[in-house]
Amino acid sequence: MTWSSVEQFRAKTDRNVLRLQEEKKAGRKVVGQYCIYTPMELVLACDAIPVSLCGTKNDSIARAESILPRTLCPLIKSSFGFALEDSCPYLAASDLVVCDTTCDGKKKMFELLALRKPVYVLELPQRQDQDDLIFWRRQLALLKAKFEAFFQITISNQALWQAIALTRRFRAALQKVLDLARRKPSPLTGLELHEIAFRASFIPDYEERIDELERIAREIEASACPEQEGEGARILLTGVPTGLGSHKVIRILEECGARVVCIDNCSSYKRVRPDPEGEDDPLTLLAKRSLALPCAVMSPNPGRFTTVAKLARDFSVDGVCDLTWHGCQTYDVESYSLRHSVQEELSLPFLQIVTDYAEADGEQLRIRIQAFLEMLG
Ligand code: SF4
Ligand code: SF4
Repeated sequence: MTWSSVEQFRAKTDRNVLRLQEEKKAGRKVVGQYCIYTPMELVLACDAIPVSLCGTKNDSIARAESILPRTLCPLIKSSFGFALEDSCPYLAASDLVVCDTTCDGKKKMFELLALRKPVYVLELPQRQDQDDLIFWRRQLALLKAKFEAFFQITISNQALWQAIALTRRFRAALQKVLDLARRKPSPLTGLELHEIAFRASFIPDYEERIDELERIAREIEASACPEQEGEGARILLTGVPTGLGSHKVIRILEECGARVVCIDNCSSYKRVRPDPEGEDDPLTLLAKRSLALPCAVMSPNPGRFTTVAKLARDFSVDGVCDLTWHGCQTYDVESYSLRHSVQEELSLPFLQIVTDYAEADGEQLRIRIQAFLEMLG
Protein backbone atom coordinates (compact mmCIF):
# COMPACT_ATOMS: atom_id res chain seq x y z
CA MET A 1 0.00 0.00 0.00
CA THR A 2 1.27 3.49 -0.83
CA TRP A 3 1.00 6.22 1.79
CA SER A 4 1.16 9.81 0.52
CA SER A 5 2.76 11.00 3.79
CA VAL A 6 5.56 8.46 3.36
CA GLU A 7 6.10 9.53 -0.25
CA GLN A 8 6.27 13.16 0.84
CA PHE A 9 8.66 12.22 3.64
CA ARG A 10 10.95 10.43 1.14
CA ALA A 11 11.02 13.44 -1.17
CA LYS A 12 11.85 15.75 1.76
CA THR A 13 14.52 13.53 3.26
CA ASP A 14 16.23 13.12 -0.13
CA ARG A 15 17.37 16.68 0.58
CA ASN A 16 18.85 15.92 4.02
CA VAL A 17 22.48 16.37 2.95
CA LEU A 18 21.71 19.56 1.06
CA ARG A 19 19.81 20.94 4.07
CA LEU A 20 22.73 20.16 6.37
CA GLN A 21 25.15 21.90 4.01
CA GLU A 22 22.88 24.97 3.87
CA GLU A 23 22.73 25.10 7.67
CA LYS A 24 26.50 24.78 7.81
CA LYS A 25 26.94 27.63 5.33
CA ALA A 26 24.62 29.73 7.46
CA GLY A 27 26.99 29.24 10.41
CA ARG A 28 25.43 26.29 12.31
CA LYS A 29 27.91 23.93 13.97
CA VAL A 30 27.69 20.17 13.43
CA VAL A 31 28.67 17.43 15.88
CA GLY A 32 29.14 13.88 14.64
CA GLN A 33 28.52 10.89 16.88
CA TYR A 34 28.85 7.15 16.55
CA CYS A 35 26.61 5.86 19.24
CA ILE A 36 23.29 6.64 20.91
CA TYR A 37 24.97 6.56 24.33
CA THR A 38 26.07 10.13 23.49
CA PRO A 39 23.03 12.22 24.45
CA MET A 40 22.21 14.45 21.49
CA GLU A 41 20.57 16.94 23.88
CA LEU A 42 24.03 18.26 24.78
CA VAL A 43 24.63 19.01 21.11
CA LEU A 44 21.22 20.62 20.65
CA ALA A 45 21.76 22.78 23.73
CA CYS A 46 24.76 24.30 21.85
CA ASP A 47 22.41 25.10 18.94
CA ALA A 48 24.53 22.65 16.93
CA ILE A 49 23.23 19.81 14.74
CA PRO A 50 23.92 16.23 15.84
CA VAL A 51 24.59 13.73 13.03
CA SER A 52 25.12 9.99 13.14
CA LEU A 53 28.32 8.77 11.51
CA CYS A 54 27.88 4.98 11.73
CA GLY A 55 28.77 3.58 8.30
CA THR A 56 25.99 1.53 6.72
CA LYS A 57 27.42 1.01 3.22
CA ASN A 58 29.61 -1.76 1.86
CA ASP A 59 31.35 0.51 -0.69
CA SER A 60 33.82 2.07 1.75
CA ILE A 61 34.91 -1.19 3.38
CA ALA A 62 37.61 -2.18 0.86
CA ARG A 63 39.43 1.08 1.51
CA ALA A 64 39.22 0.58 5.29
CA GLU A 65 40.72 -2.90 4.96
CA SER A 66 43.94 -1.35 3.69
CA ILE A 67 44.49 -0.34 7.34
CA LEU A 68 42.01 -2.19 9.56
CA PRO A 69 41.87 -5.99 10.00
CA ARG A 70 39.45 -7.68 7.58
CA THR A 71 37.95 -9.57 10.51
CA LEU A 72 36.64 -6.37 12.12
CA CYS A 73 32.90 -5.61 12.22
CA PRO A 74 31.62 -4.09 8.92
CA LEU A 75 30.10 -1.13 10.75
CA ILE A 76 33.53 -0.06 12.03
CA LYS A 77 35.20 -0.68 8.65
CA SER A 78 32.46 1.14 6.74
CA SER A 79 32.65 4.12 9.11
CA PHE A 80 36.44 4.33 8.91
CA GLY A 81 36.45 3.77 5.14
CA PHE A 82 34.29 6.88 4.74
CA ALA A 83 36.86 8.84 6.77
CA LEU A 84 39.74 7.55 4.62
CA GLU A 85 37.89 8.31 1.38
CA ASP A 86 36.58 11.61 2.72
CA SER A 87 33.31 10.59 1.07
CA CYS A 88 30.76 11.05 3.87
CA PRO A 89 29.10 14.49 3.78
CA TYR A 90 28.06 14.12 7.43
CA LEU A 91 31.63 13.48 8.58
CA ALA A 92 32.89 16.26 6.32
CA ALA A 93 30.40 18.68 7.92
CA SER A 94 31.27 17.68 11.49
CA ASP A 95 33.24 20.30 13.43
CA LEU A 96 33.82 17.82 16.25
CA VAL A 97 33.25 14.06 16.52
CA VAL A 98 32.15 12.50 19.81
CA CYS A 99 33.11 8.86 20.25
CA ASP A 100 32.16 6.47 23.05
CA THR A 101 34.38 3.67 24.33
CA THR A 102 31.89 0.94 23.45
CA CYS A 103 33.53 -2.13 21.86
CA ASP A 104 37.27 -2.70 21.41
CA GLY A 105 37.24 -2.38 17.62
CA LYS A 106 35.51 0.99 17.72
CA LYS A 107 37.79 2.31 20.48
CA LYS A 108 40.90 1.49 18.48
CA MET A 109 39.41 2.84 15.25
CA PHE A 110 38.73 6.14 17.01
CA GLU A 111 42.47 6.49 17.73
CA LEU A 112 43.07 6.41 13.97
CA LEU A 113 40.14 8.70 13.26
CA ALA A 114 41.61 11.25 15.68
CA LEU A 115 44.53 11.65 13.25
CA ARG A 116 42.05 13.01 10.70
CA LYS A 117 39.29 14.82 12.63
CA PRO A 118 38.90 16.59 15.99
CA VAL A 119 37.66 13.75 18.22
CA TYR A 120 36.43 13.75 21.81
CA VAL A 121 36.23 10.38 23.54
CA LEU A 122 33.59 9.67 26.18
CA GLU A 123 34.52 6.89 28.59
CA LEU A 124 31.44 4.69 28.62
CA PRO A 125 31.22 2.35 31.64
CA GLN A 126 30.47 -1.29 30.83
CA ARG A 127 28.03 -1.81 33.69
CA GLN A 128 24.86 0.03 34.76
CA ASP A 129 25.24 0.25 38.56
CA GLN A 130 25.03 3.35 40.75
CA ASP A 131 28.84 3.83 40.68
CA ASP A 132 28.78 3.64 36.90
CA LEU A 133 25.98 6.19 36.76
CA ILE A 134 28.01 8.64 38.88
CA PHE A 135 31.02 8.08 36.61
CA TRP A 136 28.91 8.49 33.45
CA ARG A 137 27.27 11.70 34.67
CA ARG A 138 30.77 13.06 35.28
CA GLN A 139 31.70 12.09 31.71
CA LEU A 140 28.70 14.03 30.40
CA ALA A 141 29.69 17.03 32.54
CA LEU A 142 33.17 16.88 30.95
CA LEU A 143 31.60 16.69 27.50
CA LYS A 144 29.49 19.74 28.32
CA ALA A 145 32.67 21.58 29.38
CA LYS A 146 34.35 20.48 26.16
CA PHE A 147 31.47 21.85 24.07
CA GLU A 148 31.54 25.13 26.01
CA ALA A 149 35.26 25.55 25.36
CA PHE A 150 35.11 24.34 21.75
CA PHE A 151 32.14 26.47 20.70
CA GLN A 152 32.92 29.37 23.08
CA ILE A 153 29.47 29.28 24.67
CA THR A 154 27.80 28.59 28.00
CA ILE A 155 25.24 25.78 28.13
CA SER A 156 22.53 26.75 30.61
CA ASN A 157 20.27 24.27 32.39
CA GLN A 158 17.39 25.98 30.64
CA ALA A 159 18.91 25.16 27.22
CA LEU A 160 19.39 21.56 28.33
CA TRP A 161 15.77 21.26 29.51
CA GLN A 162 14.56 22.70 26.19
CA ALA A 163 16.66 20.15 24.30
CA ILE A 164 15.33 17.36 26.52
CA ALA A 165 11.74 18.46 25.81
CA LEU A 166 12.45 18.56 22.07
CA THR A 167 14.01 15.10 21.84
CA ARG A 168 11.20 13.72 24.03
CA ARG A 169 8.70 14.95 21.43
CA PHE A 170 10.85 13.49 18.65
CA ARG A 171 11.00 10.09 20.36
CA ALA A 172 7.24 10.15 20.96
CA ALA A 173 6.60 10.91 17.27
CA LEU A 174 9.00 8.18 16.13
CA GLN A 175 7.42 5.70 18.53
CA LYS A 176 3.96 6.53 17.17
CA VAL A 177 5.14 5.50 13.70
CA LEU A 178 7.02 2.40 14.85
CA ASP A 179 4.04 1.33 16.98
CA LEU A 180 1.76 1.34 13.93
CA ALA A 181 3.23 -2.12 13.29
CA ARG A 182 1.51 -3.42 16.45
CA ARG A 183 -1.61 -3.59 14.31
CA LYS A 184 -2.39 -6.92 12.71
CA PRO A 185 -1.60 -6.85 9.90
CA SER A 186 1.04 -4.17 10.12
CA PRO A 187 0.26 -1.27 7.76
CA LEU A 188 3.98 -0.74 7.10
CA THR A 189 6.59 -3.25 6.01
CA GLY A 190 9.77 -3.72 8.02
CA LEU A 191 11.70 -2.09 5.19
CA GLU A 192 9.44 0.97 5.43
CA LEU A 193 9.72 1.17 9.23
CA HIS A 194 13.49 0.88 8.94
CA GLU A 195 13.74 3.47 6.19
CA ILE A 196 11.54 5.97 8.05
CA ALA A 197 13.53 5.67 11.30
CA PHE A 198 16.81 5.97 9.41
CA ARG A 199 15.88 8.92 7.20
CA ALA A 200 14.20 10.82 10.05
CA SER A 201 17.40 10.71 12.07
CA PHE A 202 19.16 12.78 9.38
CA ILE A 203 16.64 15.64 9.12
CA PRO A 204 18.66 18.55 10.53
CA ASP A 205 15.65 20.37 12.02
CA TYR A 206 14.01 18.53 14.92
CA GLU A 207 10.68 20.34 14.62
CA GLU A 208 10.54 19.18 11.02
CA ARG A 209 11.38 15.61 12.04
CA ILE A 210 8.49 15.68 14.47
CA ASP A 211 6.03 17.17 11.94
CA GLU A 212 6.96 14.61 9.28
CA LEU A 213 6.63 11.64 11.63
CA GLU A 214 3.34 12.90 13.06
CA ARG A 215 1.96 13.35 9.56
CA ILE A 216 2.80 9.72 8.73
CA ALA A 217 1.28 8.47 11.99
CA ARG A 218 -1.89 10.54 11.45
CA GLU A 219 -2.48 9.31 7.91
CA ILE A 220 -1.97 5.66 8.75
CA GLU A 221 -3.83 5.74 12.08
CA ALA A 222 -6.86 7.17 10.30
CA SER A 223 -6.88 4.47 7.63
CA ALA A 224 -8.85 1.28 7.85
CA CYS A 225 -6.91 -1.88 8.65
CA PRO A 226 -6.25 -3.81 5.43
CA GLU A 227 -7.31 -7.44 5.15
CA GLN A 228 -5.45 -9.75 7.49
CA GLU A 229 -4.52 -12.28 4.83
CA GLY A 230 -1.02 -12.38 3.45
CA GLU A 231 0.92 -10.70 6.26
CA GLY A 232 3.19 -13.70 6.82
CA ALA A 233 5.06 -14.47 10.03
CA ARG A 234 5.57 -11.47 12.29
CA ILE A 235 9.25 -11.13 13.14
CA LEU A 236 11.09 -9.17 15.83
CA LEU A 237 14.55 -8.31 14.55
CA THR A 238 17.03 -7.61 17.34
CA GLY A 239 20.78 -7.11 17.50
CA VAL A 240 23.32 -4.87 15.81
CA PRO A 241 22.55 -1.49 14.23
CA THR A 242 21.33 -1.39 10.63
CA GLY A 243 20.81 1.41 8.13
CA LEU A 244 20.11 2.03 4.47
CA GLY A 245 22.78 -0.10 2.82
CA SER A 246 23.02 -2.63 5.65
CA HIS A 247 19.38 -3.75 5.59
CA LYS A 248 20.00 -7.00 3.68
CA VAL A 249 18.50 -9.29 6.33
CA ILE A 250 15.28 -7.27 6.66
CA ARG A 251 14.92 -7.35 2.88
CA ILE A 252 15.47 -11.11 2.62
CA LEU A 253 13.12 -11.86 5.52
CA GLU A 254 10.37 -9.93 3.75
CA GLU A 255 11.18 -11.34 0.31
CA CYS A 256 10.69 -14.77 1.91
CA GLY A 257 7.21 -13.75 3.03
CA ALA A 258 7.73 -12.59 6.63
CA ARG A 259 6.83 -9.15 7.99
CA VAL A 260 9.43 -7.50 10.23
CA VAL A 261 7.18 -5.66 12.69
CA CYS A 262 9.73 -4.43 15.20
CA ILE A 263 13.43 -3.64 14.92
CA ASP A 264 15.02 -3.67 18.35
CA ASN A 265 18.32 -1.98 17.57
CA CYS A 266 19.86 1.42 18.11
CA SER A 267 18.83 2.61 14.65
CA SER A 268 15.18 1.99 15.45
CA TYR A 269 13.24 1.00 18.60
CA LYS A 270 16.15 1.50 21.04
CA ARG A 271 15.94 5.20 20.12
CA VAL A 272 12.50 5.63 21.67
CA ARG A 273 13.31 4.72 25.25
CA PRO A 274 11.59 7.12 27.70
CA ASP A 275 13.25 9.61 30.04
CA PRO A 276 13.42 8.59 33.71
CA GLU A 277 10.73 10.31 35.77
CA GLY A 278 11.13 12.76 38.66
CA GLU A 279 14.71 13.82 37.86
CA ASP A 280 15.46 17.50 38.44
CA ASP A 281 19.06 17.59 37.26
CA PRO A 282 19.27 17.53 33.44
CA LEU A 283 22.70 15.86 33.27
CA THR A 284 21.62 13.11 35.68
CA LEU A 285 18.48 12.55 33.62
CA LEU A 286 20.55 12.22 30.43
CA ALA A 287 23.08 9.97 32.17
CA LYS A 288 20.32 7.71 33.53
CA ARG A 289 18.47 7.39 30.26
CA SER A 290 21.52 6.71 28.11
CA LEU A 291 23.32 4.37 30.51
CA ALA A 292 20.19 2.22 30.78
CA LEU A 293 20.37 1.37 27.06
CA PRO A 294 20.45 -2.42 26.77
CA CYS A 295 23.31 -2.75 24.28
CA ALA A 296 25.49 -5.87 24.29
CA VAL A 297 28.55 -3.75 25.16
CA MET A 298 27.13 -3.75 28.72
CA SER A 299 28.09 -6.66 30.93
CA PRO A 300 25.83 -8.01 32.25
CA ASN A 301 23.03 -6.73 30.04
CA PRO A 302 19.76 -7.90 31.61
CA GLY A 303 17.75 -5.11 29.96
CA ARG A 304 18.21 -6.78 26.55
CA PHE A 305 16.23 -9.84 27.64
CA THR A 306 13.41 -7.92 29.31
CA THR A 307 13.20 -5.57 26.32
CA VAL A 308 13.00 -8.41 23.80
CA ALA A 309 10.34 -10.14 25.92
CA LYS A 310 8.24 -6.97 26.14
CA LEU A 311 8.55 -6.15 22.43
CA ALA A 312 7.75 -9.74 21.45
CA ARG A 313 4.49 -9.44 23.42
CA ASP A 314 3.63 -5.87 22.36
CA PHE A 315 4.10 -6.65 18.67
CA SER A 316 2.57 -10.16 18.82
CA VAL A 317 5.55 -11.73 17.06
CA ASP A 318 5.81 -15.29 15.80
CA GLY A 319 9.61 -15.49 15.95
CA VAL A 320 12.79 -13.61 16.86
CA CYS A 321 15.72 -13.06 14.53
CA ASP A 322 19.00 -11.93 16.12
CA LEU A 323 21.32 -10.13 13.71
CA THR A 324 25.07 -10.12 14.43
CA TRP A 325 27.74 -8.51 12.29
CA HIS A 326 30.81 -10.62 11.62
CA GLY A 327 33.45 -9.62 14.14
CA CYS A 328 30.97 -8.29 16.70
CA GLN A 329 31.90 -10.38 19.71
CA THR A 330 29.56 -8.72 22.18
CA TYR A 331 26.39 -9.44 20.21
CA ASP A 332 27.69 -12.82 19.07
CA VAL A 333 28.34 -14.10 22.59
CA GLU A 334 25.12 -12.60 23.95
CA SER A 335 23.14 -14.46 21.31
CA TYR A 336 23.62 -17.72 23.22
CA SER A 337 21.79 -16.38 26.30
CA LEU A 338 19.21 -14.58 24.20
CA ARG A 339 18.38 -17.82 22.35
CA HIS A 340 17.81 -19.54 25.67
CA SER A 341 15.62 -16.72 26.96
CA VAL A 342 13.53 -16.53 23.75
CA GLN A 343 13.09 -20.27 23.31
CA GLU A 344 12.66 -21.31 26.93
CA GLU A 345 10.96 -18.33 28.53
CA LEU A 346 8.98 -16.90 25.60
CA SER A 347 8.50 -20.22 23.79
CA LEU A 348 9.27 -18.52 20.49
CA PRO A 349 11.44 -19.76 17.61
CA PHE A 350 14.81 -18.04 17.39
CA LEU A 351 17.28 -17.59 14.54
CA GLN A 352 20.69 -15.97 14.81
CA ILE A 353 22.16 -14.62 11.59
CA VAL A 354 25.84 -13.70 11.44
CA THR A 355 26.68 -11.75 8.30
CA ASP A 356 28.22 -8.56 6.93
CA TYR A 357 27.23 -5.82 4.48
CA ALA A 358 28.16 -7.74 1.32
CA GLU A 359 25.59 -9.55 -0.84
CA ALA A 360 27.80 -12.65 -1.34
CA ASP A 361 25.96 -14.80 1.23
CA GLY A 362 22.48 -13.67 0.12
CA GLU A 363 21.36 -17.04 -1.28
CA GLN A 364 22.70 -18.95 1.71
CA LEU A 365 20.82 -16.61 4.06
CA ARG A 366 17.66 -16.99 2.00
CA ILE A 367 17.76 -20.79 2.43
CA ARG A 368 18.23 -20.52 6.20
CA ILE A 369 15.51 -17.90 6.51
CA GLN A 370 13.07 -19.92 4.41
CA ALA A 371 13.68 -22.97 6.61
CA PHE A 372 13.11 -20.85 9.73
CA LEU A 373 9.88 -19.40 8.37
CA GLU A 374 8.61 -22.86 7.39
CA MET A 375 9.14 -23.89 11.00
CA LEU A 376 6.88 -20.99 12.08
CA GLY A 377 4.11 -22.49 9.95
S1 SF4 B 1 25.15 -1.24 19.04
FE1 SF4 B 1 25.58 -0.38 21.07
S2 SF4 B 1 27.65 0.37 20.93
FE2 SF4 B 1 26.95 0.07 18.82
S3 SF4 B 1 26.13 2.09 18.21
FE3 SF4 B 1 24.43 0.91 19.06
S4 SF4 B 1 24.29 1.48 21.23
FE4 SF4 B 1 26.31 2.11 20.45
S1 SF4 C 1 28.12 -3.90 15.90
FE1 SF4 C 1 29.37 -4.74 17.57
S2 SF4 C 1 31.50 -4.71 16.86
FE2 SF4 C 1 30.27 -3.40 15.49
S3 SF4 C 1 30.53 -1.36 16.33
FE3 SF4 C 1 28.63 -2.17 17.25
S4 SF4 C 1 29.27 -3.20 19.17
FE4 SF4 C 1 31.13 -2.81 17.94
